[in-house]
Amino acid sequence: MKARYSIFSLARNALSSHENWPQAWRSPEPKKEYDVVIVGGGGHGLVTAYYLAKEHGITNVAVIEKGWLGGGNTGRNTTIVRSNYMWDESAALYEHSLKLWENMTKELNFNVMFSQRGVLNLAHTLNEVRITKRRIHANRLNGIDSEWVEPEQVKEWVPIIDLRGNGRYPVLGGSLQRRGGTARHDAVAWGYARAADALGVDIIQQCAVEGFDIEDGRVTGVRTSKGAIKAKKVGVVVAGHAGVLANMAGFKLPINSRPLQALVSEPVKPCVHCVVMAGAVHAYISQSDKGELVIGAGTDAYNSYAQWGSNPVTEDTLAAICELYPLFRRMRMMRQWGGVVDTCPDASPIISTTPVKGLYFNCGWGTGGFKATPGSGHIFADTVANDRPHPIAEPFSLERFKTGFLIDEHAAAGVAH
Ligand SMILES: Cc1cc2nc3c(=O)[nH]c(=O)nc-3n(C[C@H](O)[C@H](O)[C@H](O)COP(=O)(O)OP(=O)(O)OC[C@H]3O[C@@H](n4cnc5c(N)ncnc54)[C@H](O)[C@@H]3O)c2cc1C
Repeated sequence: MKARYSIFSLARNALSSHENWPQAWRSPEPKKEYDVVIVGGGGHGLVTAYYLAKEHGITNVAVIEKGWLGGGNTGRNTTIVRSNYMWDESAALYEHSLKLWENMTKELNFNVMFSQRGVLNLAHTLNEVRITKRRIHANRLNGIDSEWVEPEQVKEWVPIIDLRGNGRYPVLGGSLQRRGGTARHDAVAWGYARAADALGVDIIQQCAVEGFDIEDGRVTGVRTSKGAIKAKKVGVVVAGHAGVLANMAGFKLPINSRPLQALVSEPVKPCVHCVVMAGAVHAYISQSDKGELVIGAGTDAYNSYAQWGSNPVTEDTLAAICELYPLFRRMRMMRQWGGVVDTCPDASPIISTTPVKGLYFNCGWGTGGFKATPGSGHIFADTVANDRPHPIAEPFSLERFKTGFLIDEHAAAGVAH
């Protein structure tokens, strides 16, 4: 058992100037063989390992990460959490996840700073008003909290907004999910890593998977920069690199890998109290606990593995932000960065068995998988443990690209994250 974090352990460690905290997780050398190897030490991979150990009793597990934990999209996203997706299949998936968010800090004994401050999606055109209202009805039929807000109510939630949107982007109303919000992304990775390690999972960083060993159509292990590791089953959760890993295993995925960028401003006093998203103008905003404005943009229009975004996208986003919030015209931006997101043609993820026996893929979360982290890992662990899709995962299998039963979430997930 790990030492529990509490007010008492904080006080005890203060006495030794906080120099004797135990390591949050071990850094073991890889064993020769595991029951399950998870490739990718982002949030989704770590949650998968945690639930394999916790709910399925499979503790001989390694998480193999080529860089550092959470150094991929988990540590690069703008942390918006919500579940107001359109279709029944997505509603089940994202609501399952949101429920796990609501208990995460307690379950992990690690403060992930989950703040249910509300997520507001603005509508700027009549068409958007219709689509948004339709989605609200669909959400409510699925038991998800979702409500229409008139422009005056938008102004109450976000007093600094200019409802005229400088003439270009008038605010005609929006949808509000009060249970939505933000969280601390690094804490999510660290919290699950610590909890998984406590259950016996080996977390191996700075170790890239370079190939798979496949015999008679079944995976038997992975080849890594630290040597070959045998595995009865392998789960791959590498976001923007899913296509690369699928190529290594000898099949193709219907995925595009594109840069998605975000930026933060200098810190200012609290002025944005919820998350505000505007799909039509490709810009969304929230304020971090440090006071920085966290601003997200759209994806670049081309495929790339570069972890930065192009300048025209930044310029468009900032222009829209200044038009909606004239107050921010004088603010300075501090940092900009990008991540490589894996987008599917229907803007829905893939959680699936594959043509190779014992090899499973969880990917295609595109611009919006942070919110799904706990739910995705939970159902992927079940899929890997039982060698068949979890009922929530079933519609998200690779089969849908053959059958045509796509789950088109472009309106709910295209730009909005
Ligand atoms: C700028 C930006 C903003 C975003 N905003 C939001 C948001 O507000 N809300 C939201 O819900 N989602 C958002 N997302 C999307 C979200 O970040 C991702 O969908 C989610 O974090 C994916 O998590 P993951 O664990 O699957 O991937 P990652 O965190 O990327 O983890 C995959 C890991 O696999 C590792 N890896 C890759 N190849 C190999 C290999 N060969 N061997 C070993 N390891 C390997 C990588 O190093 C990486 O650490 C955003 C993304 C970006 C880039």
